[in-house]
Amino acid sequence: MDISDIYDKFDQIGCLTFATIDNGMPQTRIAHLFAYDNDGLYFRTMITKPFYDQLKKTDKVSICGMYPKTSVSHDEEGMPYFAPGYTIRATGDIKEIPLETLKSKAADNDMLMLGVKDIERYPAMTTFCLHSAWGEVYDFDFEMEHRSHKLLRTGFCFGGRRIPLRGVRITEDCIACGDCLENCSFKAIYQRDDRFIIDHTKCDVCGDCYTICPTNAVEIVIEDP
Ligand code: SF4
Ligand code: SF4
Repeated sequence: MDISDIYDKFDQIGCLTFATIDNGMPQTRIAHLFAYDNDGLYFRTMITKPFYDQLKKTDKVSICGMYPKTSVSHDEEGMPYFAPGYTIRATGDIKEIPLETLKSKAADNDMLMLGVKDIERYPAMTTFCLHSAWGEVYDFDFEMEHRSHKLLRTGFCFGGRRIPLRGVRITEDCIACGDCLENCSFKAIYQRDDRFIIDHTKCDVCGDCYTICPTNAVEIVIEDP
């Protein structure tokens, strides 16, 4: 995914949850991304808000959202039902963009020009750019209404970041019993000769294989970004 694909996924949602850290405590609020260019994704806030203070203290933010429906309905047994859709999240480093820089960028970017006009109308407004980040689109169809597997996860990164592996994988301790493949409701495990392999684009990290494996061959991996 390039930066325009990532922006389009967020923009389709509109209102997003932005998370920051405030003196060690997580904080969230609703905001939106209003533009992108080759340098990253852009959002605005006012310098008078706690959000601004938190952004400046850490220079980091995490953003997520869900499309097309955020409400949860229930089936006849009372189990939750999620209409097919996707979630998206991105986490990374931000920098404040001086107004003169924004104006210069906006000369050939209509989305950024809207930001300039907004700042001229509301002088306490300022702009941030998420310039280095990693994230994921988590496309779900849990009831397999439109395809033969529940998930399609697509990782992305930009601005010098890499996509870390955060999930489970099968180690050399595997004795090829096949129990994990049989019990993976996400159809995320496949066999190649006598090797069992997890396809991370389909894996929910639900843990069923981790708990069922007789030799503890499934390990949890949480790489640093
Ligand atoms: S359950 Fe464990 S031992 Fe059996 S195939 Fe899966 S990873 Fe290998
Ligand atoms: S964690 Fe869950 S979804 Fe992923 S491979 Fe194991 S059983 Fe399948």
